[in-house]
Amino acid sequence: MKIVGVTGTKDSGKTVLVEKLVEGLAGEGYRTATLKHSHVGFDFPGRDTDRHRKAGAEIVVGAGRETFFLLERELDLEEIVAVIDVLDGVDFLIVEGFKSMEYANFSTSTPNEFTLKVVDPFKLEDVDELIDLIKRRSYGLLQGLDCGKCGFKSCSEFAASKVRGYADEVDCRSQPEKALLRINGRPVPMNPFVQEFISKTVLGMVDALDTENLKIEKVDLIIKVQRNR
Ligand code: SF4
Repeated sequence: MKIVGVTGTKDSGKTVLVEKLVEGLAGEGYRTATLKHSHVGFDFPGRDTDRHRKAGAEIVVGAGRETFFLLERELDLEEIVAVIDVLDGVDFLIVEGFKSMEYANFSTSTPNEFTLKVVDPFKLEDVDELIDLIKRRSYGLLQGLDCGKCGFKSCSEFAASKVRGYADEVDCRSQPEKALLRINGRPVPMNPFVQEFISKTVLGMVDALDTENLKIEKVDLIIKVQRNR
């Protein structure tokens, strides 16, 4: 999953831009997820879920035609990416409103060092160009492995080159494609060899179970560590 940001000041057109990028990517058959950063709460005062939360529930889930999880704390981008990866594989995550993220982004006002293009004013006819930039210059979770498999000495060198258009054909070679390990909800970088090792070990164990009627596409293994109360 590749990550694209939309940054900019309040009321500068970020949400319209996110809408158009989602539409453009969906129109080409890509699956997208969006993430909106906000300083205000998302729940509605007086709703049942709001009342559950105020009564002291640490996690509130709204389930029905839609499902949402409310946690009374802020997760960082890496934690959220890990959750989305576990829930459902998508091609692109479009993030609105995170100010300091080291991912390719479009700015509707002041650019930063990871800005692909300033989109001010937004013009509908520019969407194809923006989608093309996303496809060539965005990248997935930066893990800080600095393994050099992409041909760059470090992940930050890779990111800088990707954003500037010097690495359109290059992708990170150590993305969590075979296995994802999270400790306390936070992804832990693993090189491809370790991912392969864990994946084969766990799949070998699962194969030994009575699962012949299941078409296995993904295995989630959660290890619970006893907490002292
Ligand atoms: S392959 Fe990925 S993890 Fe390794 S240096 Fe390049 S960007 Fe970093």
